[in-house]
Amino acid sequence: MRSPSFSNRSWAQLMWRRPPRPSRQGKARRLREWSLQVIAACALFSCTTLSASAATWTISAQPALLVNGAPVLFQVKPPTKLASLTGTWLGHQLTFSYDASTKTWFTLAGVSFDTTAGKYPLELKAERAASKTPSTFTQTFPVFRAQYPQIKVELTVEKKFTEPDPKQQQQIAEGVKIKDDYLNRVTPAREWDGKFTAPADAATSDVFGSQRIFNGKAQRPHWGLDYRVPTGAPVAAMNQGTVLLARFLYFEGNCVVIDHGQGLLTLYFHLSEFKVKEGDSVKRGQEIGLSGSTGRATGPHLHVSVRWQGTYLDPARLMQLPLP
Ligand SMILES: [Zn+2]
Repeated sequence: MRSPSFSNRSWAQLMWRRPPRPSRQGKARRLREWSLQVIAACALFSCTTLSASAATWTISAQPALLVNGAPVLFQVKPPTKLASLTGTWLGHQLTFSYDASTKTWFTLAGVSFDTTAGKYPLELKAERAASKTPSTFTQTFPVFRAQYPQIKVELTVEKKFTEPDPKQQQQIAEGVKIKDDYLNRVTPAREWDGKFTAPADAATSDVFGSQRIFNGKAQRPHWGLDYRVPTGAPVAAMNQGTVLLARFLYFEGNCVVIDHGQGLLTLYFHLSEFKVKEGDSVKRGQEIGLSGSTGRATGPHLHVSVRWQGTYLDPARLMQLPLP
């Protein structure tokens, strides 16, 4: 909460200014004047307190408890009407959308898997609608360490995925280049609208953050959520957006990437068939492909990842978020 603009010093001066030494004449008048001064000071103080509370920024985060690897919805109610609102969080740029019905600005953001526990500032920069003068506000949020499964998943895949020959290494390098180019793009404007929903009507088989071992070699943690589906099951867009990628990549197989704006992407791997092409607009729940086992997969399943500005977030946590 901001302190009132009325400084403590001047308040104290007004409160504790002694009445003039009373003379016999006009003592009652001076006392009355002093009383009026005190009343005026009190009225002024309560006025500034009121305007100070009206001029308060209300900033909330959902979920209320922030952890590494989790997406977060920031909602901001500013004290005055704004033309625009941007922010900085964990080194990322945020662009907020405005909801006129609740007079609230909001954006999706995230906390990377590698973020250590601590307190981190959300720095806001606003442009006032009336004066176009910039104003800034900072609020600190604590980030806690999440418990991700320590289970080790031993998997056996074809040798071309763990010991690629020179030609395969070149194909892998091409895939890395495409991913570097496309997956780090940030579209500031929001396309997502409301909740993110499950991409498949099936149980999950592997969760975000688990440690995996392919052919005896430890790999990076699992950056997504796996659904137990046979080949040919419909795969649905988790939210509204634009198809950024719909092509074959060495490890991911046939993969679709949807850009939902505000730096948020959803990725769908190992598809047997595409139902969309790059540049298509898609709605939440729209069929974008059929499941399969293309790329580095031990069998038919659907892998989905959520990527926000270059960092992978837990898709299960994103689907749990109630979103405007
Ligand atoms: Zn997976």
